[in-house]
Amino acid sequence: MGRNPFTELDIIERIRSLQMITDPQVKLGIGDDCAVLRRPGGMVELLTMDTMIEGVHFNQDWHPPELLGRKAASVNVSDIAAMGGMPRQALLSLGLTNETPTQWIDAFMAGFLAVLAAHDIMLIGGDTVKNPAGVVVSVTLIGAAEEKKVLYRSGARLGDLVWISDVPGIAAAGLELCRAGLAEDEQWRRLVDAHRDPVPEVALGRLLAESGLVNAMMDTSDGIATDLAHICRASGCGADVDRDALPGSELMIAAGNLLQQDPLVWALKGGEDFLLLFTSPASARTKLTELIREKIDRKIYCIGSVTEKDRVILRQGQELKDIAFQGYDHFR
Ligand SMILES: [Mg+2]
Repeated sequence: MGRNPFTELDIIERIRSLQMITDPQVKLGIGDDCAVLRRPGGMVELLTMDTMIEGVHFNQDWHPPELLGRKAASVNVSDIAAMGGMPRQALLSLGLTNETPTQWIDAFMAGFLAVLAAHDIMLIGGDTVKNPAGVVVSVTLIGAAEEKKVLYRSGARLGDLVWISDVPGIAAAGLELCRAGLAEDEQWRRLVDAHRDPVPEVALGRLLAESGLVNAMMDTSDGIATDLAHICRASGCGADVDRDALPGSELMIAAGNLLQQDPLVWALKGGEDFLLLFTSPASARTKLTELIREKIDRKIYCIGSVTEKDRVILRQGQELKDIAFQGYDHFR
């Protein structure tokens, strides 16, 4: 057996094509941050699932169990936030090796349950198994939202502005610092934390969904190049990203200098930022930024616009580059 030649997208498409059942309760199945199920009273249930594997998603040399527990919860909460929903209940499946100590499990659970408690999410079940190859954590999260308020990847319209909720690439910078043995170096804490303990954007996601000013939304997990391409594919459009409008940080530039790596590559291709990426009509620009400043004292960044062409362009002056789907892919 050779290495499988498929991209992550090919595999998802293949699985989707094999699925035979239709169910009127399912408003949206495979293909967005969450599945959406119709419930009485104009409500929907949101369902998402995320798996983290030792050696692929985390390295125990720099990822302490408490922060790993926090991250396992947060990445799933982020998918609920990406639809504008409220997280409600969780299921946890934990694969442990023979050598995993009880203290490790206690610390992991302390972190996991702390994030659940912060969002008023109840743990309602799951599974525990032995896995000699390493720790595997899989979480299913259930959320709720008003059917009319849910934001999908497919809602982007020609002429929309493209927004991001914070500096893209910080988690990738943090991961590279961990790999370089600098995880405990205080000066890089903000970047290292972005990788080890990301903060899901629940309040912002809710506010954006309530505002009626947003057309499409998702959370960033594979870098803007791939994440924005997902919105474009789902919406049947393209996007132009303005290189000079991408927010950066001095800390990220300093880390790039130290590690001899390009922060732009982190921003475009780096995974696991868990920021919100969304589009709004151009006419909503001022209203949106003011609303977010007033209600949650946050800044958002307009990084480009939605175009007709089926591509994602990075524009720097006269120079154009198609970057669609050039971000992280598990199978490439
Ligand atoms: Mg997502």
